[in-house]
Amino acid sequence: MHNIRVVILGGGIGGIVTANHLAKVLPSGNEIILIEKNETHSFAASYLWLMVNRRRPEQITAGLRNLVDKRVAILYEEAKEIDAENKIVTTDKSKINFDYMVVALGAELDRTHLNKQQFGIHTFFTLDGAAKLGRALETFDGGSVSVVVCSLPYKCPGAPYEGAMLTADYLKKRELRKPLSVNLYTPEPQPLPVAGPELGNSVKEILHAKGIGFYPQHQLQSINYDERKIEFASGNSASYDLLALVPSHKPPQVILKSTLADESGWVSVDKYTLESKYPDIFAVGDVTSITIPGSWSPDKPMKLPKAGVFAHSQAISVSEIIFSRISGNPSRNSFCADGFCMLEAGEDIAGFAYGDFYASPHPDVKLKRLGKIWHWGKVLFEKWWLAPVGFWKNVLRSLLKLGSSVLRIPVDL
Ligand SMILES: Cc1cc2nc3c(=O)[nH]c(=O)nc-3n(C[C@H](O)[C@H](O)[C@H](O)COP(=O)(O)OP(=O)(O)OC[C@H]3O[C@@H](n4cnc5c(N)ncnc54)[C@H](O)[C@@H]3O)c2cc1C
Repeated sequence: MHNIRVVILGGGIGGIVTANHLAKVLPSGNEIILIEKNETHSFAASYLWLMVNRRRPEQITAGLRNLVDKRVAILYEEAKEIDAENKIVTTDKSKINFDYMVVALGAELDRTHLNKQQFGIHTFFTLDGAAKLGRALETFDGGSVSVVVCSLPYKCPGAPYEGAMLTADYLKKRELRKPLSVNLYTPEPQPLPVAGPELGNSVKEILHAKGIGFYPQHQLQSINYDERKIEFASGNSASYDLLALVPSHKPPQVILKSTLADESGWVSVDKYTLESKYPDIFAVGDVTSITIPGSWSPDKPMKLPKAGVFAHSQAISVSEIIFSRISGNPSRNSFCADGFCMLEAGEDIAGFAYGDFYASPHPDVKLKRLGKIWHWGKVLFEKWWLAPVGFWKNVLRSLLKLGSSVLRIPVDL
C-alpha cells in the first residue's frame, strides 16, 4: 500500500479538501500532488461581503500553502492537457503520471462583459470584481441597480439573490441624491428552482419585502454599453445606472480539450462515487455534471447545483473511496448530496436552506426562518476555512462541529 501517486487538479474548495483529507487517511509512502495555477486562494462566499465593503481583499485571501497539509506537494502550474487513457497530465512546466486523479478545476467565467467599469458594469463573482463593485457602491449616488444572471448554469444558486439583498441593504443606509431601485433579472423561472416552489416563494417574499424587483425568465441577449441598457431575448429591455453581473460559466478549457468532457463540456460522473468514465479518475465540484431527480423544464433534466458545500462533501467521499481502493478494503462511503446554504439577506441576518438533493421525485429542501445565527455561522465558517492548518483551525473546527450538532445539521468538515 505505498508508492501510489494521487494527483489533484485545482486547489479551490474541492482540491483543498481532497488534499487535506487524503493527507489524513493515506499512509505515508504514498504521494499526494496538488496542481494549482494560483499561489493564493480567496474564499468566494465572502465576495458578497467584500462588494458591500464589509471585508477587504486581504481578509478573505490566504496563501494556498498555509491551507494545505505539509504532506501534500503543491505544484503552482497550469494544467494544459489530460491524457485520461494513459493517466498523464501535462502542465505548462511538467508532465506527470498518476495512479489516481481528482479533477477539481471548477468553472471558468466568460469575460465578455467584465472589465467594463467605465460603462457601470461590475461583477461580484471574482475577487477583483467584488472589490471594484464595493468602491462603485461607496460613491453611487442613486438610480437603478440591476443584478443580472447572464446564463445557466452558474455557481451558488443563492448568490444573485444575496447580491441583490446586500446591495439594497447597503445603499439604503447611505444618503443617496437620487431615488434607488434594485432589480434582479434571471433566466430561471423562480429563485433557486432546484429547491422547489415553496422555497422559491419564500425567497420571492423576502425580495418583495426589501423592495427588490424580481424578473424571472429574462434571458440576457446583449448590453448596450453607451446607453446603459440591457436587452433580453424576449425583446424587453431595461435601463441601468449600475449593473452587477453573474457572468456566464463555462467548463475549463483543459477539460473541453480532453476526453473527460461529456456533450455539455462538463465532466459526467457517477452520482455516488464521483468516478468519471475512466476508472480511478474522479471529479468533484463545479466541473461536474450530475443529473438529479426532478425537472423544472421539460427539455432540461435537473442538475446538482454548483456549490462549495457539494465540492467539499464530494471531496471527502472521493478521498475515502481512493483510500479504500489503495488499502484493498471495500468502500462504504458514497456521496449523498445533503447540502445547505446560508442565504445572506442583509442587516446581519441570513436564511438557512437545507435538504437532500438526491431525494425522489425531486430534491427535498427547506428554508429555515431568517436569523442572526445563520449569518454568524457563515462568519465562523469563513474564519475556519481561511485559518492556516494547525491549532487554531482545529479549535474553530470544534466550534463549528459543536454548533452544527446543537442545531442538528450534519456537517462533515
Ligand atoms: C459570490 C459567490 C458566493 C458563493 N457563495 C457560496 C456559498 O455561500 N455556499 C456554497 O456552497 N458555495 C458558494 N459559492 C460557490 C463556490 O465558491 C464554488 O461552488 C466552489 O468554489 C467550487 O469549488 P471547486 O473546487 O469545484 O472550484 P473552485 O473553488 O473554483 O476551484 C477551482 C480551482 O482550479 C484552479 N484551476 C482552474 N483551471 C486550472 C488549470 N488549468 N490548472 C491549474 N489550476 C486550475 C483555479 O485557479 C481554482 O483555484 C459562491 C461562489 C461565488 C462566486
